[in-house]
Amino acid sequence: MAEDADVIVVGGGLAGLVAATEIADAGKRVVLVDQEGEQSLGGQAFWSFGGLFLVNSPEQRRLGIKDSQELALQDWMGTAGFDREEDHWPRKWAEAYVAFAAGEKRDWLRAMGHRIFPVVGWAERGGYDAMGHGNSVPRFHVTWGTGPGIVEPFERRAREAAKRGKLVFKFRHRVDALSVTNGAVDGISGTILEPDNVERGQSSSRKVIGAFSLRAPAVVIASGGIGGNHDLVRQNWPKRLGVPPKFMISGVPEHVDGRMIGITEAAGARLINRDRMWHYVEGIQNWSPIWPRHGIRILPGPSSMWFDATGKRLPAPLFPGSDTLGQLEYIMSTGYDYSWFILTQSIIKKEFALSGSEQNPDLTGKSWRMTIRRATNKGAPAPVEAFKQKGADFIVRDNLADLVAAMNKLAGTDLLKFDAIKAQIEARDREIANPYVKDAQVMNLHNARRYIGDKLIRTAKPHRILDPEQGPLIAVKLNILTRKTLGGFETDLDSRVFGRDGQIIKGLYAAGEAAGFGGGGVHGYRSLEGTFLGGCLFSGRNAGRAAAKAVA
Ligand SMILES: Cc1cc2nc3c(=O)[nH]c(=O)nc-3n(C[C@H](O)[C@H](O)[C@H](O)COP(=O)(O)OP(=O)(O)OC[C@H]3O[C@@H](n4cnc5c(N)ncnc54)[C@H](O)[C@@H]3O)c2cc1C
Repeated sequence: MAEDADVIVVGGGLAGLVAATEIADAGKRVVLVDQEGEQSLGGQAFWSFGGLFLVNSPEQRRLGIKDSQELALQDWMGTAGFDREEDHWPRKWAEAYVAFAAGEKRDWLRAMGHRIFPVVGWAERGGYDAMGHGNSVPRFHVTWGTGPGIVEPFERRAREAAKRGKLVFKFRHRVDALSVTNGAVDGISGTILEPDNVERGQSSSRKVIGAFSLRAPAVVIASGGIGGNHDLVRQNWPKRLGVPPKFMISGVPEHVDGRMIGITEAAGARLINRDRMWHYVEGIQNWSPIWPRHGIRILPGPSSMWFDATGKRLPAPLFPGSDTLGQLEYIMSTGYDYSWFILTQSIIKKEFALSGSEQNPDLTGKSWRMTIRRATNKGAPAPVEAFKQKGADFIVRDNLADLVAAMNKLAGTDLLKFDAIKAQIEARDREIANPYVKDAQVMNLHNARRYIGDKLIRTAKPHRILDPEQGPLIAVKLNILTRKTLGGFETDLDSRVFGRDGQIIKGLYAAGEAAGFGGGGVHGYRSLEGTFLGGCLFSGRNAGRAAAKAVA
């Protein structure tokens, strides 16, 4: 049977776009299929904050941050906690990826026009020992233009390749099966969905209007993870994180449905680490949703006080921005699937950032005039203010008694006791005047402000929470927000997929979230952040280059 292309790429998210452009630029013919319409090209990456993990970058050096590949690898390994036999390839991917992040990643992107916001963020700060979880230094480099800014170079390259006749887009083509001949993958088949002009990110029609099949000697699976499918998230929920939450909100569009994962497994591919996932605990319900159950993650600065549903302060070092999975494990151990921030107006205006391109019009719109306001600190960014006023999870009051009463009302319980909350806040407030400090979170604030980037735009001047001058008081009910799938198809460094018999499946490649961002789980159990887009770039590039070479 005639071949329709040299390589088929399933999924037009970042990983698929990178793979497809590498294949086309190697002179091969590629077909890129996606179940969504053209308006959703770029997948999740378009909605992302565009944060990238880079090591020893010029941006870091300019801010006085001393980073190195050795330090980053130490942090990565301490964070990943690889401890399984099937971590063989993930570990190799981790070493290769850290080298990429310390090496050619920045220059490769820069040559395509990608630019970085000069203040480097400090995500997942840890708080254990030097070999434990977390970034020893700030490494979260925000793309100037956020998510759209990271998609743009690859979309441009893909469209140029389409003009040259090297790349064909097939939108609204949903893959239902892989074809396998004599153990080798050699094509795909599926259904054609009716055209739908819904806005980007909205759920599109699933009405079938036809069928298709395509043949090629190589197929790259870049179909994303399972975060939009709460049934799959619950099914794969690991015991170590307690029972799956009853209530969750979605940090990803509905097309992150995980369906292609089952289809690829049915063709013999080996899925590993399916119980590893990365969900956030600072989720707020979007007052203006785009996709079903749409939630936004607060990227919190370090000062908010964090209480569980019963009103007990989270233990050290589970402070905002320190250890996402540690927080998730703690919260689920309380028997409730939510928790609370209590903070002041001074904290919200300096420390609250919302993850997502549409929540950061200054950075997304590449407006220096708007962005500079983050440092001048005149008020919270407009999207944060909008949440404060309209968000279902926000409460603003002038005094603590009213705040706690409103928190109980919102939760529909009387779990929070005013006297107990007051005592914990007053105790913490007493440490503010004390330069030697015993409270680990307050120590952290002083440490954070030693970094110029945090002092400028991320960490409020330490103050008493109950100081009326810093008010009003704000409480935020924090929900669990699904996002990333850390496990995936086991691959070698060429992104070639292993079968369940331990042999490479000829013709089959996987990249991006579907491949656990490389190898079947480059992150191990946890992430240092900004590592997902980068994992798509690296694994997509490896898959594209290897597939192009294999079909030469
Ligand atoms: C709001 C938000 C903020 C984020 N911020 C960051 C950040 O700052 N830094 C970072 O590193 N990461 C971030 N991420 C994560 C990152 O964006 C994603 O992990 C990454 O973009 C996943 O890319 P992907 O190509 O693997 O999958 P996706 O983007 O999910 O693309 C997969 C594509 O495959 C298609 N598809 C699926 N199944 C089929 C099928 N059967 N047939 C045909 N097509 C199919 C889908 O329609 C989709 O277009 C963020 C994510 C979100 C949503």
